[in-house]
Amino acid sequence: MKYTSTRSGEVCVSFEEALCSGYSSKDGGLFVPEKLPSIDIPTLSAWSKFSFSELAYNILRLFISPAEISDAELDSICDASFRQGFDETLESTVPVKKIGQMYVAELFHGPTQCFKDLGMRVVVKMLSHFATKSNRSITLLVSTTGDTGPAACQAVSDANNRLMTLLVHYPNNQISAYQRKQLTTANSPYVHVVSFEGGGDDMDEPIKRILASSGYSQDSPFFVCGVNSFNIGRPLAQIVHFFWTYFRVVELQGLEIGSFIDIVIPTGAMGNVTGAMMAKKMGLPFRKLCTGVNINDIVHRTIQNGKFYKSANMEKTMSEAINVQVPYNFERILYYLTNNGDHERVKSWMEQMEDTQKLDIESSILTKLQATFSSARVSDQEMFDSMIYLKEKFDYTVDPHTAVAVNAATKLGYRIDDNTNEFPFAVLSTASPCKFEEVVTSALGKIGWEDYKKNHYPKKALEIEMKVEQLPTLYQWKDGLSLEEVQKQWEKQARDLIIEEFL
Ligand SMILES: *Cc1c(COP(=O)(O)O)cnc(C)c1O
Repeated sequence: MKYTSTRSGEVCVSFEEALCSGYSSKDGGLFVPEKLPSIDIPTLSAWSKFSFSELAYNILRLFISPAEISDAELDSICDASFRQGFDETLESTVPVKKIGQMYVAELFHGPTQCFKDLGMRVVVKMLSHFATKSNRSITLLVSTTGDTGPAACQAVSDANNRLMTLLVHYPNNQISAYQRKQLTTANSPYVHVVSFEGGGDDMDEPIKRILASSGYSQDSPFFVCGVNSFNIGRPLAQIVHFFWTYFRVVELQGLEIGSFIDIVIPTGAMGNVTGAMMAKKMGLPFRKLCTGVNINDIVHRTIQNGKFYKSANMEKTMSEAINVQVPYNFERILYYLTNNGDHERVKSWMEQMEDTQKLDIESSILTKLQATFSSARVSDQEMFDSMIYLKEKFDYTVDPHTAVAVNAATKLGYRIDDNTNEFPFAVLSTASPCKFEEVVTSALGKIGWEDYKKNHYPKKALEIEMKVEQLPTLYQWKDGLSLEEVQKQWEKQARDLIIEEFL
């Protein structure tokens, strides 16, 4: 399988090059597979019996040629990524539970208690594979509003490959104490942690520029690689949990393979949504893809009325991992909504967005967008309401992001308490409540938190609490500087760190 760019049909690269490059440096586009394989019903039936890592192997095999990663190597990568480090006391990597009439896919039983482990571990493993194979050094560059950073830290520490290092950035005071602790206790010679005095995606631009100038090239012995979900490896790997969730829902509901279900996704940068859309296009019987967002609601506004407009400010919320002003994967969604991937149109749309921060989605595309997606916008108070409802009615504690999705489902008319739903629906639970003590306490009270901690707290989480934090490097926002000016400074600081630390 070859990879092309959303913005140019002339780009045709190997999986290795797409994975190692992050962005398509020639045109600023995002990589997508040249075509999506179709999965028929008999294949779905066969796959429905696989373990999670077997399923991952079979899906990823379709996207990566054996010349790049052999069968045996892919098998061991999938085992290390989707089984090792996951909670072994559970029956599977991703348990799917029935709470009232709602199915919940608990994607958070990995080593950093978040669904990001499912995409990140395999991407890091594959990068490590390619680094070793070509004897080249890679520095991974990440900006995170919460869970990407810890997942990357853990994955890079675990890979323990002297050819692979990580520089991770998070917005100061905008991630939970627990998440910060996961970063600042990484204690690996291959990980450097930075906090910056800005909003959630303020490091995206500097990172994009560094990647454009120091990214992968065929003959350099060193390169920098982005592993946020603009990297195609992430949505590719995240296709797997959609197939998995589908199979479990069909099984639990006593349906035949081929019956349709709806899926509800707490949405930030739309990496997960992209995985869902690719799965649907491959033939997975998803009817609606429902997105739940907080008051940083660009995805909701776009789906409702075609206005893909960046808001003036990032709003603070209690579901910080989905505080996103411009979801970069929307570019892939647009690509898939044009007939057979119309690179030229996507390019002109995205350039317009980059120039003016505004894009009006034309009506033919908007119609298709609305046929596939629905959306709801959820306030902090409404998110609390869902946390309280699930706790009181089902004694089930969810994290704030999952609660956004649950509330969105309710707003979209799905019923948790009776079975009048036209189609079964599953909510993706993207993080463990253990990462969000403050929010869980605000919603459920001290008693609620302590009850959760006593009965459901992961063992790994207790270990983190015992560790001593190391102070991260700070990128300051000097008084009087504009965002653009400060981004230039941060870019230079990041470049200096990469050179000092890792070269
Ligand atoms: C990253 C994240 C999301 C959003 O996922 P996207 O793929 O960026 O849309 C949702 N919930 C949690 C807990 C996350 O960490």
